[in-house]
Amino acid sequence: MDDFLRKHTDELGKCIECGACQAVCPVYRETLDESRVARGRMALMEAVLQGDLPLSDRLNEIVTSCIGCKACAASCPSGAGADFVNLLGKLHLADAKGLPFYQRLLSRQILSRPQVMAASARLLDLLGRRVYTPLTDLRLAHPFLPFVRDGKGRTVPKLGPGSRRERTPSCLPEGPIRGRIALVLGCGVELLFPETAAAAVETLTQRGIEVIVPPDQVCCGAPSLHMGDADTARKLVARNLEALSDPDVDAVVTLCATCGSTLKELTPRLFASEAASALSGKIHDLQAYLRQCPAPAEQAAETPDGPPLRVTYHEPCHLGRGMGVRDAPREILQNLPGIEYVEMQDADRCCGGGGLFSVSHYDLALKIGRHKVDGIRESEAQVVATACPACQLQLTDLLNREGVAIPVVHVVELMRRIHLLPKPEAESVCSR
Ligand code: SF4
Ligand code: SF4
Repeated sequence: MDDFLRKHTDELGKCIECGACQAVCPVYRETLDESRVARGRMALMEAVLQGDLPLSDRLNEIVTSCIGCKACAASCPSGAGADFVNLLGKLHLADAKGLPFYQRLLSRQILSRPQVMAASARLLDLLGRRVYTPLTDLRLAHPFLPFVRDGKGRTVPKLGPGSRRERTPSCLPEGPIRGRIALVLGCGVELLFPETAAAAVETLTQRGIEVIVPPDQVCCGAPSLHMGDADTARKLVARNLEALSDPDVDAVVTLCATCGSTLKELTPRLFASEAASALSGKIHDLQAYLRQCPAPAEQAAETPDGPPLRVTYHEPCHLGRGMGVRDAPREILQNLPGIEYVEMQDADRCCGGGGLFSVSHYDLALKIGRHKVDGIRESEAQVVATACPACQLQLTDLLNREGVAIPVVHVVELMRRIHLLPKPEAESVCSR
């Protein structure tokens, strides 16, 4: 097994202890615990590397409490990537101490096996509300099932069948073909929001883009990595490199911010190879890709009757800070006919979702997310748009808890309802 921490020692010496990360770290803002802010995490990992710190349960708790929002890295004057260093710490700890049983099961037996994942989703959908919600009241079960301990009142999502990639191997546009892309669905979209995939395929083909949904694609590896399971993540990356390696596609388009940033930035950094770099160069977030492929002029949509729909946007951490995609979703929304776009306060502030973070640290996830609800409320929006299924899930739960009846949808879902004509970019990837 790789010693990832030792392999990336150059990342550790960058912190100059200025403390700028304190003001932006959502976990520190809620806990006021110095060991949980970027500066503290960097110091802890340095001590681990030098053998000065035992790999204790307390250390494990600190390391797993980083949501991976990248706010520290984005504001660090010295270029320290504490989110990455903390992830190296997770890999190091899991390698030395092993994964808890339920994480091993999830990572090795479910996430890496699409058929098992689809069957588990069906089972969870059947039992979810009936079993999970009563368990949150059963205090005796809490020590054994930490993910239900704080879950009282949680919105349990509807899980889909997860078979879209078998149903849509290729989707051809009706008119001339202007481009060809491979679509990465991601587990969240596939199991929770299949309508996002349908909207993406429809929007792309309307623009003359042939959409291939590679049937052998698997989970991007992010959940396994964030649990510390490098072995499974490496295997998933290898399978995706194979599944997404069609040389005849112009781009590999992602619908989920976390999948996009994992495939583009994180896995090539951890598992460097020529194939990983080549795939990284082809990864485009859907919004950024659509911005470069405007709809043909004849498809300009009419403005719907009635007053405009007030829409705000939550910027997923892994899209804005992870992939550097900030303007494209906003421009798409601003140009949608029938929509009045309003920027919420701190639109790029973490919602507290963080994929499995909101399962393992639900209480903290709710505290972090509370500020987001304030921003949404103040915006007086009627719809929240975003571009990450984990954020969608978390925001829906937060709003439901607060009794705020506002739908949270993927940007492309709004586009399906109201076709748009975005401003074209100078250079287009739709070159055919
Ligand atoms: S902002 Fe960067 S350099 Fe400053 S304390 Fe935080 S991690 Fe260290
Ligand atoms: S990634 Fe986010 S949660 Fe983790 S240390 Fe940085 S700012 Fe804090």
